[in-house]
Amino acid sequence: MRPPELFPLFAPVSSLPGVGPKLEKLFATLAGPRVLDLLFHLPTGLIDRRARPKLAEAVAGGIVTVEVTVEAHRPARRQGLPYVVRCADGTGFVDLVFFNARPDWLAEALPVGQVRIVSGRLDEWQGRLQITHPDHVLALEQRDRLPLLEPVYRLTEGLRPANVRKALAGALGRVKPLAEWLDPALLRRERWPGWAEAVKAAHHPEDEAALAPEHPARRRLGYDELLANQLALALVRLHMKRMPGRPLIGDGGLRRAVLAALPFKLTPSQTRAIAEIDADMASTTRMLRLLQGDVGSGKTLVALMAMLRAAEAGAQAALMAPTEILARQHFATLEPLCKAAGLRIGLLTGREKGAAREAVLADLKSGALPLLIGTHALFQEQVAFHDLALAVIDEQHRFGVHQRLLLAAKGVAVDVLVMTATPIPRTLLLTAWGDMDISRLPEKPPGRKPVDTRTIPMTRAEEVIAAVGRALAKGARVYWVCPLVAESEKADLVAAEARYAALKEHFGEAVALVHGQMKAPARDAAMAAFASGRKALLVATTVIEVGVNVPEATVMVIEQAERFGLAQLHQLRGRIGRGAERSTCLLLYGAALTDTGRQRLAILRETEDGFRIADEDLRLRGAGEVLGTRQSGLPEFRLADAAAHADLLAVARDDARLVLARDPDLSATPRGRALRLLLHLFERAAAMETLQAG
Ligand code: ADP
Ligand code: MG
Repeated sequence: MRPPELFPLFAPVSSLPGVGPKLEKLFATLAGPRVLDLLFHLPTGLIDRRARPKLAEAVAGGIVTVEVTVEAHRPARRQGLPYVVRCADGTGFVDLVFFNARPDWLAEALPVGQVRIVSGRLDEWQGRLQITHPDHVLALEQRDRLPLLEPVYRLTEGLRPANVRKALAGALGRVKPLAEWLDPALLRRERWPGWAEAVKAAHHPEDEAALAPEHPARRRLGYDELLANQLALALVRLHMKRMPGRPLIGDGGLRRAVLAALPFKLTPSQTRAIAEIDADMASTTRMLRLLQGDVGSGKTLVALMAMLRAAEAGAQAALMAPTEILARQHFATLEPLCKAAGLRIGLLTGREKGAAREAVLADLKSGALPLLIGTHALFQEQVAFHDLALAVIDEQHRFGVHQRLLLAAKGVAVDVLVMTATPIPRTLLLTAWGDMDISRLPEKPPGRKPVDTRTIPMTRAEEVIAAVGRALAKGARVYWVCPLVAESEKADLVAAEARYAALKEHFGEAVALVHGQMKAPARDAAMAAFASGRKALLVATTVIEVGVNVPEATVMVIEQAERFGLAQLHQLRGRIGRGAERSTCLLLYGAALTDTGRQRLAILRETEDGFRIADEDLRLRGAGEVLGTRQSGLPEFRLADAAAHADLLAVARDDARLVLARDPDLSATPRGRALRLLLHLFERAAAMETLQAG
């Protein structure tokens, strides 16, 4: 149950003054639906209106606040020309310039002969000072209303800066001091403010430095988020330790049958990973293991071996994929293999309906169906297992701790195996998994050809299109990836659709488009058309998984590659080079490529070693190129900065461990009880509830 003192923060944004249904929607898109989401939407810039020069000494190019007398109005002479209001301060003149302005409004706001305080960007045009569309025009008696320091927020289409500032003023009014959940010694050492003070300070930056993640208020908030995360993970571990596991032992019969049906042998690293998993499963403690390996390194087969072990032991196993497409793909690969061993495997996603669905559910419950593949529908719906012993989660950073717990709760002492293709370094893994056991698949299955990777400026797009044309003529299958990075998803989509239209001009019916806003059936149809070769060129945004296994695909073009995280580029590239043919990856970059950006792309050209790429990425990002977590492929943090707060991670982990060692139920000490607030604040409270349930 959420503590009452947090209710005002979890209220919908529409509970704030001035936020109606229209703004409510926009805020939900921008930050999230609740007051708290808005509070976590930190400013990215600062407008400083403290410069108050006399016009004679004012320098164009910056934000100024001037006190002027309105001298004359010069309405627009015709459509398209501006309405100009001439003003003066005794030392010089300034023109206030308005396009498409309403004359009645201007006459009222700027009456001739009156003094006004005007703030905005001062420019010079044809030798005259001017302010186009001033940000503020106030009468003298309203001068207190002028914000001298104005935070700047990321916006979404349709939302004005004033909307955000007004709503935030309301939201900040709800921020009251909460019981301190941080260790007093840590607070002192870091000179951090309390939570309420930190939130307020983060929204009232005094200078540019206050916008940086290194600022004490931002570090405090970042630490709170990291600690909530580590605490939730530590609670899960504690929970798993408290609940005994059960030994799962098999005779190897099913495995032998499947391996005999495969046209290849396991690689040494697959064999090692399977041995590590076997040892976990056979022991009486529960398995919590991460299987880390590049796209195409053969994780799925390792997962299948683990699932077969559960089946051999007479229990059930489920594999959960992050998307419908991936679930279907896993099913398509694994079903024939299971058949070879005479074993049934089922599929359950949001799209299985009616009698087929009922049959799967009934067989799961009776135990007739030993293996299951599905999406999050596995835990959203009333799915009951006869005896679930192993949950495999194909992680793509989409499942939170909470959801993992839900799946594990569907059985008794469920062993958990998580697969990830993100080669994030060990230190950062902590954020997603806490201390987990790790198996790695560093080598790729034999026979893979290296991908020829090139970087090309966007100005040469026409040549790239010509090269794609030649590849298509030779029968190649091509991915064309459009980035998803702009402020609004809509704008990204427009860009992808424009690219689709342009490529269609060249290649006609061979082109297909997939993006995240498409309905699942349409998306699946487009993917299937590409997989079968009916469409040879697939334009895609990264919201969708380019994750379908199409070994025939040999060319990938990635537009504005510099905007992606390296890990993400690496994963995308892993979609080609899967077949016997040689593959090519073209990274197109824009004109604004920085030196660091150039170096980052160069790494991809040099190596296909995911772990090296991850390390280099971290090094370069540490050197200043700070990327959002969305791009870096790390779990989504809203306040913590993966690069700038990396040093706090280990601190948070140790802190969490120590706290739980003293107060495992977070109820015996004042700090423990305060930490419950923290977990609620970051919606990690499910970890506690499971602990109580177990
Ligand atoms: P991942 O899940 O790590 O992305 P997959 O399990 O999908 O990788 O494997 C990619 C491809 O490699 C599949 O077509 C699979 O059949 C094949 N593969 C897996 N293991 C081996 C192996 N030991 N030798 C040859 N091919 C393999
Ligand atoms: Mg896979």
